[in-house]
Amino acid sequence: MPSATPTAAPAPAAVAPSHSAGAGPKRRGAFAPRRKVCRFCAEQIRDVDWKQFQLLRTFTTERGKILSSRVTGTCATHQRQLSRAIMRARHLALLPFVSN
Ligand SMILES: [Zn+2]
Repeated sequence: MPSATPTAAPAPAAVAPSHSAGAGPKRRGAFAPRRKVCRFCAEQIRDVDWKQFQLLRTFTTERGKILSSRVTGTCATHQRQLSRAIMRARHLALLPFVSN
């Protein structure tokens, strides 16, 4: 008796959802990004003064470069004032253009 071979139907294997859905990229771990606030806004300093060059020094690298707002968290308004104040203080030799 020719037995009809059961044609293997394409069995739909239970496909596990391989692609990760939802969940946007949320960084977490050892170095959780802390919320940075503008120091001038926090201390309610409206105008950054070149005479406070000791304060301005904290916004420069040890080589004398101005730190970016991404590093310090300074807002755009104060970052502009800060850079002008630093450049003025440099011109008056209160801050170095470059320090070795
Ligand atoms: Zn600010």
